[in-house]
Amino acid sequence: MTSLTQVAALHLRRAHARTLWAPSGVPVSVAPSWPLGIALTAWTVGDALLPDAVPGRSTAAYTIAAIATAAALAFTLALHEAAHAAVARRGGLSVRRITLSFVGGALELADTPPTPGVELRVALAGPIASGMLALAATLAHVLFVAVEMDPLFATAAAAVALANILIAVFNCIPALPLDGGRALHAVLWALSGREAFGATLASIAGRMLSVAMLALAVVASASADAALAIWLGLLGLSLRSQ
Ligand SMILES: [Zn+2]
Repeated sequence: MTSLTQVAALHLRRAHARTLWAPSGVPVSVAPSWPLGIALTAWTVGDALLPDAVPGRSTAAYTIAAIATAAALAFTLALHEAAHAAVARRGGLSVRRITLSFVGGALELADTPPTPGVELRVALAGPIASGMLALAATLAHVLFVAVEMDPLFATAAAAVALANILIAVFNCIPALPLDGGRALHAVLWALSGREAFGATLASIAGRMLSVAMLALAVVASASADAALAIWLGLLGLSLRSQ
């Protein structure tokens, strides 16, 4: 794939992505991997993280807290995509659709960004939003601890903060279709003056990242870390299918 528009346009061909909502006239769709990502998050949080951090609670308490954490995380991922869309619109680009998926989502633009500067700003808006959301969740965690709320709330807030840091960092890896890949494309485009040059390198980096994540999934499954193996495997496959 060679540009932001083309990468995102693939999502249009996925007829099974459904429109859920259309704020400000921009349809928001979900890919089939979206509910899977939420379920996997709830499982990871409810099965391992919460029982380790706050032992001695009922399965029902862990389940409810895990679902609430996954829902809060899904909301922050939607805000990450909304930040991309808002900056794209401010840069004069029209947004056709936002598709939420396992790796966060994809923005479908009606036109190719006119300059590397616009593409860079649109690409960086998402990780910056995730960083700010991580800060907000950290403040919520500190507040919950200060007012001595149920520790499940404080742990859930910490999980959302940590997940948003991971989302920001993962998305900054310079490989398409991640935000870092788009930023790399924009920088190479600006330096070389040729859009296609940046696109080729960023796509190759994307394929290499996908293979590396699948290889790590095999290593994780061999060391019997099922949750990590599934996470890495699905991330690798999501990157490959872009
Ligand atoms: Zn993003």
